Amino acid sequence: MTPAAYAVLKLDAIQHNLQTVRRHAPKAKIMAVIKGNGYGHGLLRIAEALNAVDAFAVARVDEGIRLRKAGLKNRIVVLEGFTSNDELDALLIYQLDALVHSHTQLDIFAGRSERAQIAVWLKIDTGMNRLGFKAKDFNAVYQRLNDCPIIKRPISLMTHLASADDPQDPMTLKQITLFNDTLQGIPGERSIANSAGILGWQEALADWVRPGIMLYGISPFPGSTGAQLGLKPIMGLHSRLIAVKPITAGDTVGYAGSWVCEKPTLLGVVAIGYGDGYPRHAKVGTPVLLNGGRVPLIGRVSMDMITVDLQTQPQAKPGDPVTLWGEGLAVEEIADWAGTIPYTLVCGITQRVRQIDSSWLK
Ligand SMILES: *Cc1c(COP(=O)(O)O)cnc(C)c1O
Repeated sequence: MTPAAYAVLKLDAIQHNLQTVRRHAPKAKIMAVIKGNGYGHGLLRIAEALNAVDAFAVARVDEGIRLRKAGLKNRIVVLEGFTSNDELDALLIYQLDALVHSHTQLDIFAGRSERAQIAVWLKIDTGMNRLGFKAKDFNAVYQRLNDCPIIKRPISLMTHLASADDPQDPMTLKQITLFNDTLQGIPGERSIANSAGILGWQEALADWVRPGIMLYGISPFPGSTGAQLGLKPIMGLHSRLIAVKPITAGDTVGYAGSWVCEKPTLLGVVAIGYGDGYPRHAKVGTPVLLNGGRVPLIGRVSMDMITVDLQTQPQAKPGDPVTLWGEGLAVEEIADWAGTIPYTLVCGITQRVRQIDSSWLK
C-alpha cells in the first residue's frame, strides 16, 4: 500500500546533475551543498548518492554531526561556523571544517591552545552583507587567525554571490573582483560559486565550486527550468484523488468560500495540502497532473487537501494518482504559481510525506 502523499526521489539523476557541474567546472573541486535536509530530499540519502564529491557543505554543526554518525568520511564544511567553545569542541570531535566569519569566533580560537586541529574557511563579505568580514578588514583578521595555533594551514577562502541568478547584474563581477583583489598573494584555496555562479559566471569558478540547487535538477535562474539547463529533477511529489463529485453554479468551494462555481462541473479532492508542504499560496489555476493531463487548482489549499476542477477529466475516480510536481510538471512552474522559488517547495516537504527511492519501485 502506498501512502496517500509521497515523494519519489530519482537518485540516478543526481549523478547526471553532478556530471553537469563537472562539465561547467572541469578543474574545480566540488563541495556539494546538502543543507536543509538535502534541500528536502533527505540528508543521508543525498550524501550517500553523492559520496564521490570532494566535500559536503551543511549550514549547521548538527547537520555535520549527523553525517559523521552515519559514517561519512568526506570532508564536511559547516557554512555557519560556530558561536561557542562547545560548538567548536563538536567541530573538533567530528572533524568538521568551519567557516570563520566573526570576531566572536576569532576570540574563541585565540583562547585555545591545541595545535593544527581545525581546517577553516575564512569568509569575506564582498557585498552579500550576510556572513563574513569586510574586505577592508581582511589583513587584520587574517593576521589574527594566522596567529591561532588551533588553525590548520593554509587557510581556505570563501565568498558568496548575492545576485548571480541575474546574468545582467553588474554586482557579480564587482564581488568577484573585490574577492580576488583582496586576496592577492595570499595562499589557500578559494571558493566563490553557487549553482548560478557555476552555470552563469566562468569568472566565479575558482578552486572549489559549491553547487546546491542544480544538484537536485532545479534551475537557480528565475524563468527557466532545470530541464532547460540540461539538469534532471530528482523529486516528484505525488498523491491521489480521494473524492469526486459534481458541483453546480453558485456552489462555493473550500475555506471562506473564496471560489465560486460558475457552471456545473466535476470537483476532485486530492490528498495533499500545506501540512505536506504543498504551498498554501498556490493560486487558483495552478496545474496538477492527473491521468496524463493538467487540471487546475480551485479554492484554497487546506492542510490535508486541495480541490481541482475535473471538467476535462470526467472519467477521473477516487484512487487515481496525481502529481503535484515532477515529471511533466516542473517544480519551477509551481513555484511561479505560488509566488515563491522552487527552493522553498522542495525544502518544505514535511515529515508526513513518505520519501521513496525510485529504485525501490522498479
Ligand atoms: C546555500 C549555499 C550555496 C548553494 O546555493 P545554490 O543556489 O543552492 O546553488 C552555496 N554557498 C553558500 C554559502 C550557501 O549558503
